[in-house]
Amino acid sequence: MGKSKVYFTPAGATNWVESTICKAKEMFYVAELDKCIKPGDTVAVKIHIGEWNRTACLRPEFVAAIVEEVQKCGGKPFVTDTTTLTYQLFNNRFDEVNELKGAYRHGFNPNSLGCPVIIADGFIGHDDIRVEIPDGNILKETYIARALASADACINLAHAKGHSITSFGGCIKNFGIGGQSKRGKYITHLAMWGDPADAIGYPLVNKDNCAGKSCKWYKFCEDGCPEGAISFDDKGLNFDFGKCRLCYSCQVTCMFTGESAIGFRDDYFPFAQIAMADAAKGVMSLFDPGKIGYMAYVIDVAPECDCFPWAGTYIVPDVGVLASKDIVAIDTAAVDLIDAAPIMPGSRVDQLGLKPGEDKFKAVNLVTPRIQLKAAQKIGMGTMDYELVTWEPVLSPDTIGKHQPFDRPGTFYLRKLYQKYGHVTKGTGAEPFKRVKLADANWKQFA
Ligand code: SF4
Ligand code: SF4
Repeated sequence: MGKSKVYFTPAGATNWVESTICKAKEMFYVAELDKCIKPGDTVAVKIHIGEWNRTACLRPEFVAAIVEEVQKCGGKPFVTDTTTLTYQLFNNRFDEVNELKGAYRHGFNPNSLGCPVIIADGFIGHDDIRVEIPDGNILKETYIARALASADACINLAHAKGHSITSFGGCIKNFGIGGQSKRGKYITHLAMWGDPADAIGYPLVNKDNCAGKSCKWYKFCEDGCPEGAISFDDKGLNFDFGKCRLCYSCQVTCMFTGESAIGFRDDYFPFAQIAMADAAKGVMSLFDPGKIGYMAYVIDVAPECDCFPWAGTYIVPDVGVLASKDIVAIDTAAVDLIDAAPIMPGSRVDQLGLKPGEDKFKAVNLVTPRIQLKAAQKIGMGTMDYELVTWEPVLSPDTIGKHQPFDRPGTFYLRKLYQKYGHVTKGTGAEPFKRVKLADANWKQFA
């Protein structure tokens, strides 16, 4: 397999055409993502809707920009994400009602995006399609959210950021976790893989570290397991491995409250990345060749994922926007660009003393994100060998008006209206207004 092209436009703007929105729209065509869409195609624009109280999510305009271009191609877009597992006690995306409520709070709604917003796996995440993954590194089957599986074409529109379990979240994660239904997510979490003794597919339980009912958090553990796998008696914690489906809720509760009775084994994390790549391939297998385009906003790069109900200080200044037809190449380029970027003062990577060029997500999330890239490459999803093609807009009379709300400057329209209906002029309201003489004004007294 030869090099794959990844198109890149840097962040930052000093004029109209350098707006992130305008550049993202251009990248859609530069990378030929328009060729993924035939007139009449139903097009899933797969995003991460983001967790309640999370501020480092995609912004509605970033998504609307691409929805508008899909519509210009004749596609019928819908913006979509899936329900989640109950991976923490207060997550809002475990069902459709609450996920949509959070989506609207983030500004993802039909008014702002110009198309429907759909939870792809239904009311509680049970609406799905089973797919085989014959060449999966670990997983040989998974379950894909039905609405995503039913689309004719897809734009995988990722937000590049870190992730505490998978180290990095980009386009592979947007499919490998975000495209899975609830049972697809249990599979991707590797639930019940191995046996409790090796703890890969189960929480790592150390009963001796649990204070039982004396732990002030114990009610969250006892009442918070959706499967009823946790109970307490006078002897302490009882953990029913036969019931646990590895949703992460008790693990996250115990770890983030500073306790150490229920957690993860260290080698869970690399395995989770490999399984995620397998599951992403499951999504890709449902589309005809050439029907998926990939984009990533490498902007607001937080150390943790949009599934967190908070946002840490961004680890690098905004990098830019990427587009490609290759899911492995685009994620590799995102990780490489983030690693090469300057260190954001006060961020986690700054606190850890990292220098530009070092593996930032490995430092923050303890495992290199390149595991998922290598795993995805191994099963033929794409290549880590890419050519980065930088694209920058040119300000000209031809380009300045592109992607603006009107085909001609607003001043043209207003002049027409002034000529037609008149205008407020001297003596009718605009002039004169009360003021001192220019000679008496001195701005330097305020400097
Ligand atoms: S938070 Fe941890 S230590 Fe506390 S009751 Fe739950 S498992 Fe035990
Ligand atoms: S015991 Fe298993 S299913 Fe229950 S909260 Fe913990 S991880 Fe989730």
